[in-house]
Amino acid sequence: MVKNGGLLVIPRPQTCTVRTRTGMLAPLLAAAGFVAATPYATLQRPATLVVDASRADDGFMEVREHIPAAAGSFTIVYPKWIPGEHGPTGPLNDLAALRISANGTALDWRRDPTDLYAFHVNVPAGAGAIDVAFDVLMNAPGDTMATHSVSILNWNRALFYQDGVDSHDYYVRPSIVLPEGWQYATALRGERSSGNRVDFAVTALNQLVDSPLDMGRYVRKWDLWRQGSAFVELDAFADYPQDLEIPTTLLQAYQKVPAEAFAMYGSRHFDDYHALLTLSDAIGFEGIEHHQSSDDRASDDFLTNPGKSLTEGDLITHEFSHSWNGKYRRPADLTTPNFQVPMLTDLLWVYEGMNQYLGDVLSFRAGIRSPKLFPEYVASVYAAMDTEPGRATTPLIDVTTGAPYYYGARGDYGSIRRSSGDFYVEGELIWLDVDTIIREQSHGARSLDTFLHRFTEPAVTGPVVETYTREDVERMLNDVQPYDWHAFFERNVYQVAPHPAADMLARSGWRMVYTAKPNDFVAGRRGNRDAIGWFAYGANISSEGTVRDVREGSAAWRAGLAPEMHVVAVDGQAFSPDVMLYAVNRAEHSNAPISLITSQTGWYRTLALDYHGGIRFPHLERIAGAADILDDVAKPRT
Ligand SMILES: [Zn+2]
Repeated sequence: MVKNGGLLVIPRPQTCTVRTRTGMLAPLLAAAGFVAATPYATLQRPATLVVDASRADDGFMEVREHIPAAAGSFTIVYPKWIPGEHGPTGPLNDLAALRISANGTALDWRRDPTDLYAFHVNVPAGAGAIDVAFDVLMNAPGDTMATHSVSILNWNRALFYQDGVDSHDYYVRPSIVLPEGWQYATALRGERSSGNRVDFAVTALNQLVDSPLDMGRYVRKWDLWRQGSAFVELDAFADYPQDLEIPTTLLQAYQKVPAEAFAMYGSRHFDDYHALLTLSDAIGFEGIEHHQSSDDRASDDFLTNPGKSLTEGDLITHEFSHSWNGKYRRPADLTTPNFQVPMLTDLLWVYEGMNQYLGDVLSFRAGIRSPKLFPEYVASVYAAMDTEPGRATTPLIDVTTGAPYYYGARGDYGSIRRSSGDFYVEGELIWLDVDTIIREQSHGARSLDTFLHRFTEPAVTGPVVETYTREDVERMLNDVQPYDWHAFFERNVYQVAPHPAADMLARSGWRMVYTAKPNDFVAGRRGNRDAIGWFAYGANISSEGTVRDVREGSAAWRAGLAPEMHVVAVDGQAFSPDVMLYAVNRAEHSNAPISLITSQTGWYRTLALDYHGGIRFPHLERIAGAADILDDVAKPRT
């Protein structure tokens, strides 16, 4: 064993492998009934994949694939269950103009009538491979992947593979043709460029899908950390060059992220890491984790507007943290042999819930957000999850188990229907609770960081996977701090828990208070104006007067306000956020209800909003004499 910068070094494997704590994944899969087909694409004779993205700026890519095959009936599949997206989200509708041939002769193909991601062909005798060509249409409403200056390539959107194989044991030689004058970044290895074409080394299919590629016209690459051949890089691609002008202080904060993460986890499970960031208002806000990279998508002003660092400053740190928690340590039932086998998502309360906590903590420890603001942040999350009616009926385990559908949950009354966001922020509070319990029970000797060091040992490996179960997590927590963790998670995750644990804040040295002073984090991504009423009269109303959501049981609910209604007037005056604020403040000293004129599908109504509690924003207040645990959680370690 060799010590390297305090980290134990394990030799780097050639390709990403999957094993469990007790051995290889294969026995586990066999038990689940999966027997891998013999792959025709091997390390020696890989499939070849050329993605011609020369028209990516027009939202169009053309794919040419040479797939080793055997004569007779042969099935190829388009990736369906996408890691990191935690669902059957492979964008089948973006695939068009499929053509299959062998030795230059076109072959008829048929889509499977029940598995719509599978396509059957008859491979003629003597043909050892098929040629597959198709177009990828990159942009759909809510799913824009290409603009005039920036494009994101998720390889799973641009390939087929042989049905039934283990993706860790199926090999592809990928290439990309870039638009004229564009640059790219990816965690893929062995690149060789010739003109606009880049060829990469032969790669196992799972690692290819785990290695997105960003490309664009305006690019900046910043070193965040470097040690020997290992490094962490932030690669940003922008619609407009001026959006790459990151302030020095913010860059310095990002440069602290790797060291803070190494201190938090005591380990590293990548050789090098690329945080791939697009800056485009046209591309939706998103972050997808990968083992040696992340696919981070933010707005034009993400690096230049300080407000964005406050509300979205955990984007990069959250995805980076996933390299340990989610990619290296992964729930066993979320670890699948290929992209057609359904993932079981029940343990996302660890994978995403704990990671929401850690990604946020990292953003504060690195200084992307001031550590002093951590209590304000906790107040915003606690208050949101303390006032969610859906918790009264639906336990968190249902939201994680149903994650593939909760991710797509759309529509009114989000706080009743619950959504995937809940296992992030509700999970975050549960793991803050775990942290405070370990600290209290160990009299400050240990913390969640102690657990993370155990959870992600040994100290340095390449991108391998170690799976875990709920029992593993509880056992490891118990090793760090004896406690009835099973009962704890039973109470908070597996049974209905209408509110966050009441003693969590007290254990951290703080108590919740509501005042008229705004909380910056409550503004969230919807803007402060929308959110002023949620903790007061119980509705979010946009600056234009559209009701976004109404909290069940609140004054707004009793008044009859409903999502998608339009508030036209408040106490006789045309609606504006300021007019609403004035009315709420005046009603605090009156018994008369606030009069609202609303319009809904052509009908006008007058509603009486009987609310007299004033504007209320959540904050935390120190408990005199109690130790300040939140200060200790958020302060830098390096
Ligand atoms: Zn995540």
